[in-house]
Amino acid sequence: MSGDVERTRTVREAIRDELLRGPATARELSERVSIREKDVAGHLEHLEKSLRARGERLVVEPASCIACGYAFARRSRLTRPGSCPKCGSTRIDPPAFRVENA
Ligand SMILES: [Zn+2]
Repeated sequence: MSGDVERTRTVREAIRDELLRGPATARELSERVSIREKDVAGHLEHLEKSLRARGERLVVEPASCIACGYAFARRSRLTRPGSCPKCGSTRIDPPAFRVENA
């Protein structure tokens, strides 16, 4: 059990390190930190809280539709939207994340 807790903490540290270096998408993070892409949003949610205590913040560059340019502002902020509500395209540029000093 404590091994899992340790591993979780290490994963979030590794994500933070990656995002301090520059922007990355959920897919890039999953490859670099060796976690499943669908688990990235959960880690980011927790990371966001611990960053605040250090005077850092998670910056999200929102997903956008490649076909029409629609930007997915706040909705589904941490995950990749399935399709564009404006034109229905599924060619979505996923959100990118980075960490900066608040
Ligand atoms: Zn669109």
